[in-house]
Amino acid sequence: MTTPTRNDWEERARSLIIEGRAFVDGQYLPAADGATFDCLSPIDGRLLAQVASCAAADADLAVAAARRSFESGRWSRLAPAKRKAVMIRLAELLEIHREELALLETLDMGKPIKYSLSIDVPAAARALRWSGEAIDKLYGEVAATPDDELGLVTREPVGVVAAIVPWNFPLLMACWKLGPALASGNSVVLKPSEKSPLTAIRLAQLAFEAGIPPGVLNVLPGYGHSVGRALALHMDVDCLVFTGSTRVAKQLMVYAGESNMKRIWLEAGGKSPNIVFADAPDLAAAAEAAASAIAFNQGEVCTAGSRLLVERSIKEAFLPLVLEALKTWQPGHPLDPATNVGALVDRQQLDTVLGYIEAGLGEGASLLAGGRRILEETGGTYVEPTVFDGVSNAMKIAREEIFGPVLSVIVFDTPEEAVQIANDTSYGLAAAIWTRDLSKAHRTARALRAGSVWINQYDGGDMTAPFGGFKQSGNGRDKSLHAFDKYTELKATWIKL
Ligand code: NAD
Repeated sequence: MTTPTRNDWEERARSLIIEGRAFVDGQYLPAADGATFDCLSPIDGRLLAQVASCAAADADLAVAAARRSFESGRWSRLAPAKRKAVMIRLAELLEIHREELALLETLDMGKPIKYSLSIDVPAAARALRWSGEAIDKLYGEVAATPDDELGLVTREPVGVVAAIVPWNFPLLMACWKLGPALASGNSVVLKPSEKSPLTAIRLAQLAFEAGIPPGVLNVLPGYGHSVGRALALHMDVDCLVFTGSTRVAKQLMVYAGESNMKRIWLEAGGKSPNIVFADAPDLAAAAEAAASAIAFNQGEVCTAGSRLLVERSIKEAFLPLVLEALKTWQPGHPLDPATNVGALVDRQQLDTVLGYIEAGLGEGASLLAGGRRILEETGGTYVEPTVFDGVSNAMKIAREEIFGPVLSVIVFDTPEEAVQIANDTSYGLAAAIWTRDLSKAHRTARALRAGSVWINQYDGGDMTAPFGGFKQSGNGRDKSLHAFDKYTELKATWIKL
């Protein structure tokens, strides 16, 4: 089998039938009021589809369908081993439709087809399979009771779950939620980002095909301030899970408090420090990781290594290696299988990133690489990976999440200073440490306030490890058995013998 070329992908894109309607109670439907929005590709601005712009009336319909399906017990009371079989079948369907899903993802949000194919879709399938496989291996507890009593601690699905997800890994973020939510027996209303709704809409049909009963998975595309807000304020949603910005996460906590005190789990932004000590075991490897940590997925990664903390004594030797490594991360056409960096998700994100580059220049940071919009003639939204040296941690580019390929280089002199700078942020999602000194690695890892710490690598982990943040990076954890805590209620049943 030959690998598809850019022309092959373009050909397939032309013949792709793209569904833009919502999926409610087992069928595709337009928004209740017929509203749609244009779904444009950031690759070149082409119109991909008219997508249903759902609102409060659609939220009511989908939540009612989810509630009915939950109460019916068709899924919620199905034996865990049977739910497992359906989840695994769904994972298989993602793999069977891998190329179609990868193409949709790339067209919709601009990431390189190479990565949609090799990372996004396979990782989404793994998340569904892993959660499905886990569900018939999770046991309840028997309490340590006196002899004449029996205490059972069991887990039950919470009920109707609303999942609101972002645009940077659209299918994967959805599946990190859907895996444990569905495997636990809940019914779900999924709201993808208005910037990248297409794979979620397609996923609904595949889930139905796999055997998820009508009403158990509903997908409502639309704007956050409209259908997102309606779900967050809904009195019959039991649990709200979210991945997105800290700003919206805070708003959702207000909505939960103003409505029915729904359980709320938030995975939010980051400004992760990547700390390179002078005794790093391999400076070239550290430089390559630093480059991919800021350029992969156009820098639109919650765990992007956007603050590069370098020990002063190696700065002169290390930075040229980073700049060299970044040469392989230059933007190209996302459907070209050789491309490593694609388009930013849309014009608004492009303006945001260019605005931060202006701010960096304005605050006196020195531009070492990039800084410009390129390939403008394509009609797409491409920015060069950008490196600022001479950054102080007080500058706006070091404090705020840019969500684009903009790296801030900050120097430090001692491990204590590195930790102080690393933790001087409102975020706490991830951090990395490069050193050959085992004690220093562990001491530093303990001192860092972050949900994931990587040593001598960037972005390690798989489905077995929880993923989420400290501080204003959120509270919930995706992946691992810990994720099931979000989607289940604990019940204590006490029996007098
Ligand atoms: P965003 O917060 O703007 O939007 C996320 C989702 O929330 C979208 O579906 C949006 O429509 C919806 N939304 C917006 N306003 C809403 C409202 N008032 N009520 C209800 N829903 C609303 O985030 P984004 O721009 O889509 O994604 C980027 C952000 O996501 C970054 O901050 C990034 O760090 C974060 N992120 C975090 C993780 C993680 O696991 N911690 C993973 C990926 C992305």
